[in-house]
Amino acid sequence: MAFRGNPHRTYSVPPGLAGIVVTVRHRLGADTLQIISSWSGTRAAAARKRAHYSGPQPGNPTDSSLTMRGVRTLVLWDIDHTLIEMSGFSGEIYASVFLAVTGQPMERLADMSGRTDLAITVETLRLHGVAPTPETLQAFGSALAAGFSARREEIPAYGRVLAGARAALEALGTRPDVVQSVLTGNMEGIAVEKLTAFGLDRFVDFEAGAYGFDHTDRPPLVRLARERAARKYGEDFDQSTTVLIGDTPLDVEAGHRGGARVVAVATGSSDVEALRAAGAELVLTDLRETSDVVRAVLGVSAA
Ligand SMILES: [Mg+2]
Repeated sequence: MAFRGNPHRTYSVPPGLAGIVVTVRHRLGADTLQIISSWSGTRAAAARKRAHYSGPQPGNPTDSSLTMRGVRTLVLWDIDHTLIEMSGFSGEIYASVFLAVTGQPMERLADMSGRTDLAITVETLRLHGVAPTPETLQAFGSALAAGFSARREEIPAYGRVLAGARAALEALGTRPDVVQSVLTGNMEGIAVEKLTAFGLDRFVDFEAGAYGFDHTDRPPLVRLARERAARKYGEDFDQSTTVLIGDTPLDVEAGHRGGARVVAVATGSSDVEALRAAGAELVLTDLRETSDVVRAVLGVSAA
């Protein structure tokens, strides 16, 4: 939490009002400045005048506006088995793209769980003796995104939004102290098509996310998303203010290696014990209890 217009740091602000921007138009100088947040009447914070402060006193009443800007939390959602569940669709698209790009039928598809589209593509090509040259990978990626777009109307029939996901996105989306995006193994075009098909796109800022064709491995995606969010919002998101939510040990590892805290959800193939063992700060069985999800996300962020 920081003050704009408080250059001498006359006031210190306790944590607890992260993300709130407050403009105060009163004479400053009292020992305690009580600030009640406008978005929730139940939360309040006091900005305390520093006891040993000996520098210049706060501005006079004609120049008494004080803006308090809080630290926001960047929430990065994994998509598959965290927000939505789909089966069959990706495999069909991969098969048709494989045939179109390489001229041969796809006999095996690499393991997809928790991995990036780039890693899946590279391994699938190699399984068939095809070299993953930059040109081939680019052609494959473009064809994958085009394949999803061409069949976007069919997407809902292949899957569903997981219980509580929409409400959780909505609840966090109303908070001024949260920026929501995605950290997913899906390439960007596919991520957008999937979330749009299920009506979840309006809750996330795709520009602040990172995707499965940005890098083969997941951990570098976290730093990339943090950098994109920082550029977009003009503030830093560090390890304590970035929270990744995902369903696999690979998500947990990515978060920790890439600089984020992790809330794991056991709605994929990993159970609560496996996700705890992977080191997740917090593990939820699912997203059904919205207040638990919000508390988990903001709790690990503040911890
Ligand atoms: Mg997943």
